[in-house]
Amino acid sequence: MFIDVHTHKINSDDIPIIYNIRINDDAVTLPHDRHIYFSAGIHPWDADKVRSVWYDNMTIMLNYEQVIAVGECGLDKHTSASLEKQLEVFEKQIYLSETNQLPLLIHCVGFSHEIIRLHQSVRPEQAWIIHGFRGKPELALQFLKEDIYLSFGEKFNTESVKITPLNRLLIETDESQIAIENLYQRIAEIKECDVRELKTANDLFGI
Ligand SMILES: [Zn+2]
Repeated sequence: MFIDVHTHKINSDDIPIIYNIRINDDAVTLPHDRHIYFSAGIHPWDADKVRSVWYDNMTIMLNYEQVIAVGECGLDKHTSASLEKQLEVFEKQIYLSETNQLPLLIHCVGFSHEIIRLHQSVRPEQAWIIHGFRGKPELALQFLKEDIYLSFGEKFNTESVKITPLNRLLIETDESQIAIENLYQRIAEIKECDVRELKTANDLFGI
């Protein structure tokens, strides 16, 4: 029940995780274990190094049953690639998310309004998830109005957690060492709900 929606480390217990594969020139070997699922995407930090073969590799990878999301991908104000280049790379991955019918895990730093604007123009059928959301409730509301999911990690704004409905709320460990169970517990206390109710939005992954 405790899905870790976005992580960069493989755990040894049975809790389902979505392990992030950062597509680049490095070869990838997918570890085999029943509880390990994957997302595959080109990070905006790599946007100015992209080669077309990356998209080919990604397309192959998205066919694996264990790969259940596209990403992390998105936009980042503090990276070297221009916004134009980042948008080009991100839009290709939005397309891959739609054509492969897989949800999109989004890395968003400083470009929230571009993400919202894109969501309004693309009108995607697949779920969009802002991973590691730390924004204030005002921003949370703007994403939620678009039916975009928010995934909370170790650091988050408590008020934003409070206003996020359970059917749009996800939980992740990302780079942190915190145990996913602890995060679920903390968020259940803030939401004043049973920890089991926090699995509501996890259904979107169909696992
Ligand atoms: Zn991450």
